[in-house]
Amino acid sequence: MQAVVYRGPHLLQVETVPIPSIRRDEILVRVATCGVCPTDIKKIHQGSVPPPRIFGHETSGTIVRIGSAVRGFQPGERVALHHHVPCLDCHFCRHRAFAQCETYRRTGITAGFEPAGGGYAEYVRVMSFCLPGVVKIPRRNSFLEGALLEPVNTLLKGIRCLSLLPDDTVLVAGQGPIGLLFTRILSRQGIRVVATDLLPARLRLARQWGAWRTAHATDPNLPDSLRRWTRGRGVDSAIIAVPSDDAVLQAHAALRGGGTVLLFAHTIRGRTTPIDLGTICVDEKTLAGSYSSDFTLQREAARLVFSRRLDVRPLVTHRFPLASTPDAIALASAPTPDSLKIVVQQD
Ligand SMILES: [Zn+2]
Ligand SMILES: [Zn+2]
Repeated sequence: MQAVVYRGPHLLQVETVPIPSIRRDEILVRVATCGVCPTDIKKIHQGSVPPPRIFGHETSGTIVRIGSAVRGFQPGERVALHHHVPCLDCHFCRHRAFAQCETYRRTGITAGFEPAGGGYAEYVRVMSFCLPGVVKIPRRNSFLEGALLEPVNTLLKGIRCLSLLPDDTVLVAGQGPIGLLFTRILSRQGIRVVATDLLPARLRLARQWGAWRTAHATDPNLPDSLRRWTRGRGVDSAIIAVPSDDAVLQAHAALRGGGTVLLFAHTIRGRTTPIDLGTICVDEKTLAGSYSSDFTLQREAARLVFSRRLDVRPLVTHRFPLASTPDAIALASAPTPDSLKIVVQQD
């Protein structure tokens, strides 16, 4: 089969590799769609994990083979996959810190080499501990919608950290694909979203996706506007969907006492920034982070996407064939004003 193999920093090669063989408690899926995700891009550019690997983890496709011990699935079924599934039993899982669970941290979907998702290949093997993360796609929904369940799940998990009430005001910094999804989900929940970005085109989109107010991220009047829009209180929460330290400081300053800034895009370790610790203690401001998905929110994410109460289809602006995955990664690493979610599509 054809696969896009990571061979070292910045180096992706289209190669012919064996179709993965499966054990009796595993399934084989023919990949239809795989979303391009910033965490893959980070690994490809930074060389933070050793090659060779086949990346791609926002995957949907069709089951083509089933191990003899597997129950509940049939060949021909269209499914969405989750490459991380927690054990639900360890110390971390009991604290709902699923992303810290050792089982969760193992990647259970592979197209060969060290398991890394494998979605940039024709077929993937789904290991037994990831079978609870296999979600059937209803007939009326597309593979594309299936592929976006995982990122939507990560957003729902992030929003849970914020304990919001209706009519709260939330600043969403960064209106890329993730920021826009936050804007839509929150506005549907009756939250007033203030959306910021550096690109005017993204601010126009943010309004279409439900933002209550928009502002250029470097607008010098933004702090005043945020106070005015919240009757002098400050915003209840802020979500930082862009890896900008300035955005964190701006949001932290704009936060009301007792509010939360949620880091969603600062996925690189070693970044530091000065924060007035008194604002954490006396003003009770929280600086929180959320990473990856929450297994227990899988059904909620599926209901939201498959019912189209959250229609993710308009988010996808570019589709690439498998052999052009390097171009898909290149575009996602240097987004243009008209590029949002980018997918690799084989169906
Ligand atoms: Zn992802
Ligand atoms: Zn666990």
